[in-house]
Amino acid sequence: MKILTIHADFIEFEAKKKAFAAAEEGVEKGHKVRVEECLVVFSAVEKKDEENVTAVMQKYLQEIKNIAQQVNASKIVLYPYAHLSSTLADPKVAEDFLKQAQQKLHAEKFVVYRAPFGWYKSFNISCKGHPLSELSRQFGAEETLSLKKEGKDEAFVFSDQKLSNDEKVLLTAALLVGKAVKNLHPKAEVLGLGFYHNQAYVDIAGAEVSLDEIPSVEAQACSELGKHFPLEKIPVQQITHSLQKSIVQDLGKDAVGYNLDGMKLVPLYKDPFVELSRVKALKMLNQSKVYWKNNANNTQLTRVYVVGFDTSEKLAEFLKKKDEAESRSHLKIGKEMGLFVTSELVGPGLPLLAPKGMVIREEIINYLWELHKDKGYQKVWTPHIAKEQLYKTSGHWDKFGDELFKVKGKTDNFILKPMNCPHHMQIFDSFSFSYRDMPVRYFEPATIYRDEKSGQLLGLSRVRAITQDDGHLFCRESQIKQEVTSIVSVIRMFYNTLGMDKEYWVSLSIRGEDKSKYLGSDDAWEIAESSLEEAAKENKLNYKIVKGEAAFYGPKLDFMFKDSLGREWQLATIQCDFNLPNRFNLSFMNEESKKERPVVIHRAISGSLERFMSVLIEHFAGKFPLWLSPVQVKIVTVNDRNIDFAKHVTGLLKMHDIRVEVDDRTESIGRKVRDAQMERANYIITIGDKEVEKKVLAVRTLDGEVKFDVSVQKFVTEIVEEVKGRRL
Ligand SMILES: [Zn+2]
Repeated sequence: MKILTIHADFIEFEAKKKAFAAAEEGVEKGHKVRVEECLVVFSAVEKKDEENVTAVMQKYLQEIKNIAQQVNASKIVLYPYAHLSSTLADPKVAEDFLKQAQQKLHAEKFVVYRAPFGWYKSFNISCKGHPLSELSRQFGAEETLSLKKEGKDEAFVFSDQKLSNDEKVLLTAALLVGKAVKNLHPKAEVLGLGFYHNQAYVDIAGAEVSLDEIPSVEAQACSELGKHFPLEKIPVQQITHSLQKSIVQDLGKDAVGYNLDGMKLVPLYKDPFVELSRVKALKMLNQSKVYWKNNANNTQLTRVYVVGFDTSEKLAEFLKKKDEAESRSHLKIGKEMGLFVTSELVGPGLPLLAPKGMVIREEIINYLWELHKDKGYQKVWTPHIAKEQLYKTSGHWDKFGDELFKVKGKTDNFILKPMNCPHHMQIFDSFSFSYRDMPVRYFEPATIYRDEKSGQLLGLSRVRAITQDDGHLFCRESQIKQEVTSIVSVIRMFYNTLGMDKEYWVSLSIRGEDKSKYLGSDDAWEIAESSLEEAAKENKLNYKIVKGEAAFYGPKLDFMFKDSLGREWQLATIQCDFNLPNRFNLSFMNEESKKERPVVIHRAISGSLERFMSVLIEHFAGKFPLWLSPVQVKIVTVNDRNIDFAKHVTGLLKMHDIRVEVDDRTESIGRKVRDAQMERANYIITIGDKEVEKKVLAVRTLDGEVKFDVSVQKFVTEIVEEVKGRRL
């Protein structure tokens, strides 16, 4: 079974004609159906699903219900979509399947529409832009069955993490929500409390809390804010609920019972709560279903998500940021600006860059090269596939396992490359270098492929074709420091230009206590670790040493940058490697004409270009600095008499390599300006009769500021300077 779900503003479809004789009967040709605010489930029932229709149905309904709950959709459109699979089930089976699913979902209080089966249809859909608006799933009977067979209980683990005040307030808010649920459903039991990103969650047994009920639970919890309730520790012997007793058992000596007004529970943290009256504001965000101890054979629990704060200002701030993040989603902005598209035929996790998205990517790559070319780097190119043996030698065969895409040739078996490094090792190995040639530095933004699970894929941020701005340096141990310093300067320059270097920190990962886990001699490690630290010091990096976090093959520096919403991203990295040079037996000739093993340094400045683009889109909310912007200038004409002058200005701008577009449609000027703003054109120039007559421009900036009577020459000179200086 393959499904693709779209959370849509609307879908409109129309049955055109039968695709085959046995198509669904009773369908009115040409009848249009429009459904607003719905979850559209494009579905393909597959051949192998026929073996166990019941199990597949169960899974299908569960997936739909889960997603509908997550996106808060009460209307569902089941849409047969043959293109999702090349091994379709018998049409009769598939038609019955979808009809049955419609009835079952209807019985669960969903409003369900179904597009006719076996008809050619036209449809028009508007996908919402949030992260869950497009999801794809694949499942079959085996998966459902095997889950049942292999399901294993996960034990509860006590955390000795010292909680901050804010974290305690968060858990206490979750506790209040648990209490509210118990007030409304006396039979409910509060099981686990925990953290999910910057939210807390409460797991509840013995009561279903639906999405519809969330407002009343929230109101109940809020009505008790600021009140004093006795919260006391109790001996675990007083815990009587069977599931809670199981938590006590898992935690052993760490288990501590709490009693809040008759509600007993066993938290997983030490001293996790503050005085209840200190929670001044809370908000419930969502709910989902989880299995007790993460085992699909066990009872389902309701998990509700909540945030809580000790001042109402902090809640207001949180909600503002949440709205801001949603409005900045790269999926939404990417669509508005026409940066990238996805195609079901190409496949999930394989976004396609449209011309405007490619502009941004090329500007980034060109800038990166500009920063590298004077530092001794040379461009290389490597193919996208290589024989299996290359990755067996490099160790990536074992490391990536079933994430590797395998390509069968006529005589050899190939792999779509999961890393560029082994290829670069082969280039180095094919030449004979002497100590005078070192360091050797290769630069290649290149795409690697990993078969990530389709449920984990998202827009540009989690993809299957990942382009790394990759580079590898081959150097002597004594050269590590100078090379790292040089890379650090590139990183600083790059992020400074993007305005992302104000708040960042660097993690310097070194070996842990057990030195036997690491490859390479003690001497080499000491040189590498101290070189990285000295380079960090000399560049005045804000770094923290993290012991035991080094890769087995060498120490590294990871750069964490914050975007304009304060979210942290690990982007640039510099990693020393003693392993690959060994595996590929690399060497150069030293002063004594003896073979010496080089150290490899892997470096990436932007990391994955796809993910980096998603970060940039959200960081700038699509309002890119001029040099990165796909549409730098949009010229909007008031009437047809203005077109000639518009063309003249366009020509001038193009001569200076400015990306300019003209909108001479016969639309209202207001409409044209709004469209240009949606595209985030940096400068919108309006040309009317007055401008033509005086040979001047009316210029509107991204912030909506308008200047009249701007001389053409002055405008051109200024924006050329702005691009050249890569100004923010
Ligand atoms: Zn590498």
